[in-house]
Amino acid sequence: PAETLVDMMDASVKRYRRRTALEFFGAETSYHDLGAQIGAVAEGLRRLGVTAGDRVALILPNCPQHVVAFYAALRLGAIVVEHNPLYTPPELRHQFEDHGARVAVVWSNVADTVADFPGDIRPEHIIAVDLTRALPLGKRMALRLPIPQARRSRAALSTRPRARGLVPWERLTSRRAISTRHPRPSLDDTAVLQYTSGTTGSPKGAVLSHRNLRANAMQSRAWVPGLHLGDEVFYGVLPLFHAYGLTLCLTTAMSVGARLVLFPKFDTKLVLDAARHSPPTFLPAVPPIYDTLVTAAAADPKALSRIRYAISGAMSLPVTTVDTWEHATGGLLVEGYGMTESSPIAVGNPMGPTRRPGTVGVPFPSTEIRVVDPEHPETDRGAGEEGELLIRGPQVFQGYWRRPTETAETLLPGGWLRTGDIVRVSDDGFVTIVDRVKELIITGGFNVSPSEVELALLAHPDVRGAAAVGLPRADGGEVVAAAVELRDGAAFDETAMRDFLRTSLTPYKVPRRIEPFDELPRSLIGKVLRRQVREELLARAG
Ligand code: ATP
Ligand code: MG
Repeated sequence: PAETLVDMMDASVKRYRRRTALEFFGAETSYHDLGAQIGAVAEGLRRLGVTAGDRVALILPNCPQHVVAFYAALRLGAIVVEHNPLYTPPELRHQFEDHGARVAVVWSNVADTVADFPGDIRPEHIIAVDLTRALPLGKRMALRLPIPQARRSRAALSTRPRARGLVPWERLTSRRAISTRHPRPSLDDTAVLQYTSGTTGSPKGAVLSHRNLRANAMQSRAWVPGLHLGDEVFYGVLPLFHAYGLTLCLTTAMSVGARLVLFPKFDTKLVLDAARHSPPTFLPAVPPIYDTLVTAAAADPKALSRIRYAISGAMSLPVTTVDTWEHATGGLLVEGYGMTESSPIAVGNPMGPTRRPGTVGVPFPSTEIRVVDPEHPETDRGAGEEGELLIRGPQVFQGYWRRPTETAETLLPGGWLRTGDIVRVSDDGFVTIVDRVKELIITGGFNVSPSEVELALLAHPDVRGAAAVGLPRADGGEVVAAAVELRDGAAFDETAMRDFLRTSLTPYKVPRRIEPFDELPRSLIGKVLRRQVREELLARAG
């Protein structure tokens, strides 16, 4: 059946009524109550004038209000625009200028920031969500997030919004439900404007339709054939404002009637505390989270013993992490690949013994791939040859918001999405990610993949994080350089580290320079930002 995200949620509300949909610091919301809250907030937003096609901005960490506001805006046919609440005021202002939302539902800590936007950018209505209200005192500290705004405003936690014209969230929830006769969105309407991570440049708004997001939720369900409808416990540690968390935590969880345990940030203690009460069965996350959790859970082996499926994406997953995790939990840890522009998942390892660690697996159902010459995308490369990955499928986005030039460069005729990633595909169809086209290091005529150098560095027992980049050389080429983050107590010895690398890398791939960093710059989802590492290395060189 052709269903929108709104229809999918309605179906789950009917089917899973009494089951818990959301859990947040121990407080539970049933599917029935979630449906009622969505209906009320939809009515509240309608009265504020929100109609189909309007942008409704959300600036919220993971919390029940995030889920309610998301589906309430969709119910009206509005376009949800997700934001990272930890962005600085100029970054947020830039995004608001881009999408022009009339209404924003924001975490009260950032309400002043939004209210201070210049008149033509400031939304007409700002709805402030005070997350501490519903929380017991002892839990409030857990909401301390390293937000730039909090340093500025002393009202970080008490968060009574100061600015005028703010609507408290509670005013929206007390409405009665929107009329069932109110028009609903259709499948090809835009559902979400999702900004990319901004790893290679400034974030771009990817336009995703209901059809796109529904397709990816259904493809994800098909990926995990052993899911028990109505009985899974999903852990939402990934931010819902990123495509990965949005699909794999939120829309997939809701469609299978799961209990979704929401965390406003990843914190080992919060996760292990929650696991005592509602042990997770399904955990989408990123490699550093798996490493951290496995170490912490060693003292508490029961905490993770019900996890059957763990899914990794967004960055490459070391095979050692897979081994450690699977050994400790008895569940599978499987890697997939995707990007915001594909809702996001396009390729995934089979959930079973045929999975192949070190690869990202095979194309999702209804998804086709090609490997082409990055300079001439009309020319295909053969099996086993490296080239740029193209993707076609129902999850591929509609284009970038108000950026026709970038859209034309990225969406090729025939519906092929250019990923900007270099891959290799084996004879039997397994995809290995080599690197981003933009980040390959060109040294003396050879291409060096920074990921390969990073994996070699990560194999060193003292190294906790690594980034490899190309630095300019006088002759116009580049030299390989690297930054490493050391484990506690380890001493840095550049020569010894280079000797170590020479056992696994050909000489031209061994970095000429390796520098210790206290902490590598990372995106909020945990990707190392090579662009910033490069700038820092250049600055250190003077
Ligand atoms: P921007 O497009 O703004 O520069 P971004 O590409 O990091 O940022 P996302 O859409 O969040 O934004 O990330 C998609 C990218 O993440 C992919 O193009 C790919 O480079 C990388 N990626 C995703 N999954 C994997 C994976 N399993 N292994 C390696 N890289 C991955
Ligand atoms: Mg990208």
